[in-house]
Amino acid sequence: MAANNIPYKIYLSENEIPKQWYNLNAAMKDKHDPFLNPATGKPCTKDDLRAVFCDDCIDQELNFTDLYIDIPEGIRDFYRMYRPAPLVRAYCLEKALGTPAEIYYKFEGNNTSGSHKLNSAAAQAYYAKKQGLKSITTETGAGQWGTALSMASAFYGLDLTVYMVKVSSEQKPYRKEVMRTYGAQVVPSPSDTTNAGRKILQEFPGTGGSLGCAISEAVEKAVTSDSCRYVLGSVLDHVVLHQSVIGLEAKAALDKYGVEIDTVIGCVGGGSNFGGLIAPFMGDKIAGKNDIDFIGVEPASCPSLTRGKYVYDFCDSAKTTPLARMYTLGCGFMPSASHAGGLRYHGMSPIVSKLYHDGYMRAVAVEQTKVFEAAEYFARTEGILPAPESSHAILAAIDEAIACKKTGQKKKILFGLTGTGYFDMAAYKQYNDGTMTDSIPSDADLAKGFASIPDIPQNK
Ligand SMILES: *Cc1c(COP(=O)(O)O)cnc(C)c1O
Repeated sequence: MAANNIPYKIYLSENEIPKQWYNLNAAMKDKHDPFLNPATGKPCTKDDLRAVFCDDCIDQELNFTDLYIDIPEGIRDFYRMYRPAPLVRAYCLEKALGTPAEIYYKFEGNNTSGSHKLNSAAAQAYYAKKQGLKSITTETGAGQWGTALSMASAFYGLDLTVYMVKVSSEQKPYRKEVMRTYGAQVVPSPSDTTNAGRKILQEFPGTGGSLGCAISEAVEKAVTSDSCRYVLGSVLDHVVLHQSVIGLEAKAALDKYGVEIDTVIGCVGGGSNFGGLIAPFMGDKIAGKNDIDFIGVEPASCPSLTRGKYVYDFCDSAKTTPLARMYTLGCGFMPSASHAGGLRYHGMSPIVSKLYHDGYMRAVAVEQTKVFEAAEYFARTEGILPAPESSHAILAAIDEAIACKKTGQKKKILFGLTGTGYFDMAAYKQYNDGTMTDSIPSDADLAKGFASIPDIPQNK
């Protein structure tokens, strides 16, 4: 089957698991704007962040100089349980499409948590343990991050409380049980266990919750509990850093066969898998070594890149976190109950935002029913049942490959297949029953979200 001697799966060996992460912040000539302390309006210092985040993660967050950062052996020990992740040449998909393009995907769903999120969960749990903390808190939307962190917390011996967006906890009761099996305590958010939760419940009774709201609850719990810190599964620079193992492994595998990629595609929620997948390729593009077309794919229901504003905003809806300059729909934006739970976030990684703003990449927004059409096509051709989030990237890759059919271009396309969809069967059922709808916010809906963006001098 393997034309050009490229196998269906390109495996790396265990000792080819990266020994260092790739720090895009160091590769970028123009750095993104600094986080601001909302109380002072000044750039955040390490001390500002210490009450919330682990020390090593703060150091990584504010590191704009070291292109490579060592991965501690204690983290590589965990990575060895499920990495290296395979890089697949999608021969079956190419054949079905009849495209002259070559399609490759990096599959991150080969672990029980089912997604790439374990790459950063392992690192953050390791650093929390190293610092002598007893517990950590977090939020989870679709549940992948909470599951990943539960696995990592069990491995490193930490107590974990997960605030799970209420609609997701109702749609995915079994996710919750996976987390509890790994020892986590799961609280549906908004809850009455925090001030932030109670306030939101008062304002929006009956709300299904949002990631921003769950973040507020988790942060509050962390700063009011002893020896506890908050950990975040996306958006922040250190999470993008940890996810660079995806891009580094993909590049190492492609380099073995001398494959030079033309297009790199990833879904974007908070931007971490995309930032990690593109990291070493983007570093080369910034250095003038390639001219890769980078495409971030977001849901039309939560279009932060394609319809958001590039301003300073809070990372959570209770306005407790530092301010980040990013593409945002406003921290008060409430997305409709879309199934691509992992992509329902109002903001976007400051790194990805800056790259987009400076024209190093482009973004497309796609509708949910088209995404599921692509998901089923992919399942039937390549065999893997993809996560709805990942299927955004599948759709864009298929569109690119079909375009190649028309032009005859033999583009080499790489996309990130971030996870499996086993816990998304309610969404697949809706799609199969023909009851799934697309919900695209009107300009008036967006205006409501934009009104929640802080009115600070930097935003004028
Ligand atoms: C969380 C998640 C995403 C989106 O998060 P990013 O930080 O944008 O990567 C994408 N795919 C899957 C499977 C997820 O679980």
